[in-house]
Amino acid sequence: MRTCIFLLFIFTSFNSYAQDIPARWDELTASDWPLAMEKSNKTIILPIGVLEKHGPHAPMGSDLIRAREWAARVTQEEYAVVFPDYFYGQLNEAKHLPGTFSLPPGLTMELLEATCEELGRNGFERIMIINGHGGNPSMLRYFVQNQMASQRDYAVYFYDPSTDPDFQEKLNTLRKTDPAGDMHAGELETSSLLYLRPELVQLDRATNESGADQKRLPEIPNVYTGIWWYASFPLHYAGEAEKASAELGELVIEQKVASMVEALRAIKADDKTLELQQEFYEKVHQLSEEK
Ligand SMILES: [Zn+2]
Repeated sequence: MRTCIFLLFIFTSFNSYAQDIPARWDELTASDWPLAMEKSNKTIILPIGVLEKHGPHAPMGSDLIRAREWAARVTQEEYAVVFPDYFYGQLNEAKHLPGTFSLPPGLTMELLEATCEELGRNGFERIMIINGHGGNPSMLRYFVQNQMASQRDYAVYFYDPSTDPDFQEKLNTLRKTDPAGDMHAGELETSSLLYLRPELVQLDRATNESGADQKRLPEIPNVYTGIWWYASFPLHYAGEAEKASAELGELVIEQKVASMVEALRAIKADDKTLELQQEFYEKVHQLSEEK
């Protein structure tokens, strides 16, 4: 009996040890790879950020740091493999500033496509993109739409949340600045960094530059131009970071992580997207065969 209990103890402790594998691809061993595929249900998170100025006070990798930290926290709740740092986003609007890493537009799309293909080749069937950079969503939505262009045996899911009014109300009770002007490296983003990596934020420098909208373009109703951001915020600073707090950051991060966990669970359980994709590609194929 005693031996039995001892063996049971050894088995359960070994089992829990065996289940406790890293989420990050670069930290996994090849021998743990099959378990990682099983635990993740062939799901990988691709966190995307960029390298660019974040006002005079926040680190240039702010978007990457946030995306990386979301992924780390999300996978503590629900397992998925996490792709290492990916900072090849759309960043043309920051090329006038030092510290900007911006690849040519065609290459940016091609690199993302090749990365997803490579994830698929490694056996992943579900790729969840999470994005930390405000200049990426248009590109990412176009990228996801392009997935319909040719057959592939994986699905790309872009985490693209809509505003939650209940959370916004909660947020506004803590927030000190006007949400309309609080964008890049402003109160909210700086608060997230103060919560995640306070040692990287030089808050005393936040007032060295103005994060106010410079309104240098004439009002042209219902029209979008690429220069709008530079016209309004040429210093890559939008808001008043000096009013940031770790407390606000905690609220923002915890809400984001909970929402991402919910999305990840649904993605891991989803077979329908891939099934419909295959059905769609077959019909496209049939149509071209008939010609
Ligand atoms: Zn940012």
